[in-house]
Amino acid sequence: MEQGYVHSIESFGTVDGPGVRYVIFLSGCPLRCQYCHNPDTWEPASGSLMSVPEVLEGFYNNLPFYRKGGVTVTGGEPLLQSDFVTAIFRNLKKHHIHTCIDTSGAVFTTDNPAFLKELDRLLSLTDLILLDIKHMDETKHKMLTGQSNQKIFAFAKYLEEKKIPVWIRHVIIPGITLYREYLEELGEFMADLDNIQALEVLPYHSMGKEKYKSLGIPYPLDNVREPSAEEAAAARQIILSAYQKKKERLYSI
Ligand code: SF4
Repeated sequence: MEQGYVHSIESFGTVDGPGVRYVIFLSGCPLRCQYCHNPDTWEPASGSLMSVPEVLEGFYNNLPFYRKGGVTVTGGEPLLQSDFVTAIFRNLKKHHIHTCIDTSGAVFTTDNPAFLKELDRLLSLTDLILLDIKHMDETKHKMLTGQSNQKIFAFAKYLEEKKIPVWIRHVIIPGITLYREYLEELGEFMADLDNIQALEVLPYHSMGKEKYKSLGIPYPLDNVREPSAEEAAAARQIILSAYQKKKERLYSI
């Protein structure tokens, strides 16, 4: 029986995909985003080792509430346990439940045939990917997350080839990502893909600060302010304008 490391489960979530959702947080993440508010999910073999029926019990017990939503698997980085996510989704698809993965795509590689085979199996059971684009600039991405963004961009392209619907998520952080230049680059990047269905611009918040304190980890963004809802709306507009302009260029004769 497939088992996986589960950090926690949230019932009746409304911010991780369409409708009301059952949200499963898996353990393990290769990134170290400076704004991460779930540093307690970073360790791979942490949390509870659970089977698919155990993970989905709370979902099926409340199925009527999820009729217009579904199940989202997030983390941590869910693709670190892609075989377990496949087993969860295989179970859900027997009941025609909407399935969604929230991922940074940072573990994507075309060099490992076994990984690709498992990924393809998982994608065939996935209705939607929430793809987190952390930073468009590679050097700044490394500073912000500890790793390059090239695998993430390659994963975005792969999802387009596989015709998997994607919602882009982007956190705006003053002094780090909240610059017109980077926002426009993101819009242009999105315009090069044909499978983007939505954009979510999320203002950075410091809710994770207390967790860092309790885990004894220094909080890297101590002096960074939280942007306002107006700044988030303006950033979204900049991204969408750049997206629109690039699309017009691509399709003009
Ligand atoms: S990818 Fe998500 S879980 Fe991993 S460090 Fe970044 S914000 Fe945290």
